[in-house]
Amino acid sequence: MHTIIIGGGVIGMTTALELRRRGVEVTLIEKGSLGKECSWGNCGLICPSHIYPLAVPGAVTKVMKLMLSKDAPVAMPLRWNPRLWGFLTRFTMRCNAKDAKQAALAKYSLLAKAESSWTEFFADETIDPEFERKGGLFIYRTQKGLDGLRGEAEELTRDFGQHWKMLDEKQLLTLEPGIKPGSSVGAWVCEEDTHLRPDVLMQQLAAALVTRGVKVLDNTEVASLRREAGKIVAVETVNGQSIQGDTFVLATGAWAPKLEETVGARLDIQPGKGYSITMPQPKKGPVLPMIFNEDKVAVTPFKTGYRLGSTMEFAGYDTSFNDKRIGYIVRTAQRYLLEATAEPVQEKWWGWRPMTPDGLPFIGWAPASANLFINSGHNMEGLTLGAISGRLAAQVISGQTAEIDLAPFKVGRKI
Ligand SMILES: Cc1cc2nc3c(=O)[nH]c(=O)nc-3n(C[C@H](O)[C@H](O)[C@H](O)COP(=O)(O)OP(=O)(O)OC[C@H]3O[C@@H](n4cnc5c(N)ncnc54)[C@H](O)[C@@H]3O)c2cc1C
Repeated sequence: MHTIIIGGGVIGMTTALELRRRGVEVTLIEKGSLGKECSWGNCGLICPSHIYPLAVPGAVTKVMKLMLSKDAPVAMPLRWNPRLWGFLTRFTMRCNAKDAKQAALAKYSLLAKAESSWTEFFADETIDPEFERKGGLFIYRTQKGLDGLRGEAEELTRDFGQHWKMLDEKQLLTLEPGIKPGSSVGAWVCEEDTHLRPDVLMQQLAAALVTRGVKVLDNTEVASLRREAGKIVAVETVNGQSIQGDTFVLATGAWAPKLEETVGARLDIQPGKGYSITMPQPKKGPVLPMIFNEDKVAVTPFKTGYRLGSTMEFAGYDTSFNDKRIGYIVRTAQRYLLEATAEPVQEKWWGWRPMTPDGLPFIGWAPASANLFINSGHNMEGLTLGAISGRLAAQVISGQTAEIDLAPFKVGRKI
């Protein structure tokens, strides 16, 4: 069997490697360079703590408030874009307790295997992308904010077996001396969260593809999929190449809707643009990964560097770079940290998160093309879910039974 994978981000590459391990011949097609889009400059958090989707009760009011602040970390378009406004409407309709809980339960089935699937993957491929098990801090500058997470932290401890603990400011400063005294009231810590360095992982995955004998066609953009009698027979590239295969995988992240014509269902995915800045570790910088939860900025100290990241811009496929977003990220980090930055800046970056209204990815066969598998739409957790999503896709495509129920991630589900 020959499988053609479109998209060389974390999802496409893990799917390719898992299929090769099962004896499948694989060709991976990437329009640019492997791993250089959203999977590259993200914050590297493997975060089972992110069980709830963004669409929860009160989310719309919170977003509106954030948008009104001077340095808004969230932005929406004023232009008319029917597809985006439809997406935002469906998102809004899901901001209720019932839908949020249903999505959380589905997401948890993937998140529960996030870390173990990665550590098994690293062992199988003998790679080491600076994986560290240090937990994750959720830091608050107001008591109201800190107390506001209590209900969820208690629920995740009670119902999902996670280990959450609240720290007052003194306990926080003892655990993480990189925090500026007086800048926060305390934090929640989730022991289950871990992290790695995504750009290092991308380079190691790309090398593993070669070692495993995956045929890689980079700088090759797929223009369309050719369907005959309810099956895809080939992909057509923008250069006029036609590449045939037995099964096909769409792992194009935020770009997935652009190739949805043969899917037979809407791939309700919108790019959610985020930014990051990477540099060496500041001398008195933090040692633990953390999120300033009221300001939506994440800080990840890697073994060989340090990254700040944030913001969510819904502006369609807008490729402009807005340096003000980086300014917001740096200023926020400076507010909380003794030493928030270091020279030289190695990279200022943006990427499109593949967002869905219900916060769940699409993992399953396309309704209208029997041999087309979709593995796209991993929202803010594509790095976290990379190994398990690749494994699930490979299990189904190679005829094994998926190790978890994939019904909640069905393509064409009602959102
Ligand atoms: C600032 C920021 C911070 C984040 N932090 C985290 C985090 O801490 N933890 C976490 O789990 N997630 C995080 N994320 C989200 C995570 O980065 C994404 O969910 C994940 O990278 C998506 O992976 P992907 O493979 O689906 O998409 P991508 O990495 O974007 O890969 C898709 C690939 O498909 C290719 N492609 C598209 N169209 C075509 C075509 N027609 N032909 C050929 N190739 C094509 C693209 O070039 C691209 O390489 C963050 C995102 C951002 C922006």
